[in-house]
Amino acid sequence: MRIETLAVRAGRRPDPATGAVAPPIVLSTTFERAGDGSYPGGYVYSRTGNPNRGALESCLAALEGGEAAAALASGQAAALAVFLSLAPGDHVLLPEDAYHGTARLAREILVPWGLEATFADLTDLGAAERSLRPNTRLIWAETPSNPLLKVTDLAGLAGIAKGAGARLACDNTWATPILQRPLALGADLAVHAATKYIGGHSDLTLGIVVAKRDDAFFQRVRARQHTSGAVPSPFDCWLALRGAETLPVRMRAHSEGAQRVAEFLAAHPAAERVHYPGLPGHPGRETAMRQMSLPGGMVSFEVGGGAERALAVAAGCRLFTQATSLGGNESLIEHRASVEGSGTRTPPGLLRLSVGLEHPDDLIEDLKQALG
Ligand SMILES: *Cc1c(COP(=O)(O)O)cnc(C)c1O
Repeated sequence: MRIETLAVRAGRRPDPATGAVAPPIVLSTTFERAGDGSYPGGYVYSRTGNPNRGALESCLAALEGGEAAAALASGQAAALAVFLSLAPGDHVLLPEDAYHGTARLAREILVPWGLEATFADLTDLGAAERSLRPNTRLIWAETPSNPLLKVTDLAGLAGIAKGAGARLACDNTWATPILQRPLALGADLAVHAATKYIGGHSDLTLGIVVAKRDDAFFQRVRARQHTSGAVPSPFDCWLALRGAETLPVRMRAHSEGAQRVAEFLAAHPAAERVHYPGLPGHPGRETAMRQMSLPGGMVSFEVGGGAERALAVAAGCRLFTQATSLGGNESLIEHRASVEGSGTRTPPGLLRLSVGLEHPDDLIEDLKQALG
């Protein structure tokens, strides 16, 4: 089946007890055993499994083309479950411009726990290869990257991982399976902050790990989900599954709007640099066109005059809301460096846009008046 159909149908069926077409939210923490001690519904206790979570996991596994998925309480919890499925002493390779939460996870929790971590420019496959060690067990990719929209060649990186006996995981939050399918490109795991586009309405926090194979490594991820207990609520799973239904339609509209906004900015003298893989001249454009069906809904640009001017432009927007996060229906603008704080690698004059579903002409008019 095609992805639009899977988005609406995978993981759903009318409720056998009532015939309800929209799935009921199951709040029960515990499930009755039959006389023979079995669990006829397949559920035992809500930390280890819940029907709303199960439905969401089936849907996301189908969208990414994986055998299994595990939903966790946030994108961070999902990433943590993957890293903690390695063993102390293992080496992981991460992008030098990884999402700042992922970089902090590595530096503040995983390295003290015993992992070795190297941050490298994974858009350069030679640099990736040179950063491998005999004990490298995982390469973590994120493409397009935050906030510079750098594009990493996933098929190339998958080849390097395979040659090294390591797994490749891709944080696919920005592209979503609608625009990019890492497992089909050779990755072993696709990881999401469903908080963003999958939820799509800025009203839930949830993470998902999708595995190409339901193998021993994924069983370790599952065990971390069950035992660490960072599981999402039934209601958040219900909301995320509802979000997934419209994901294909929304992603196309986000991308169409972002392309228009990026082209406007590229022609505006106050925007010194515009980062969007859909623009000619973007260094990752060719790779993006090969591995993504559309360039996506995120754009960033740099204004002269540093942080002060960038913050003034953000404050001058009337339609774009000045807030962090991304992937909602409403457009957001964010001065990224001040959110990331000390040690940030983000240029001080950079503003990041999450282009929502408003009419692109209204968004362009807003940026025009804010840029002056
Ligand atoms: C937001 C985000 C995360 C973390 O997700 P949370 O749900 O906030 O924990 C991870 N990766 C990327 C690319 C993100 O944008």
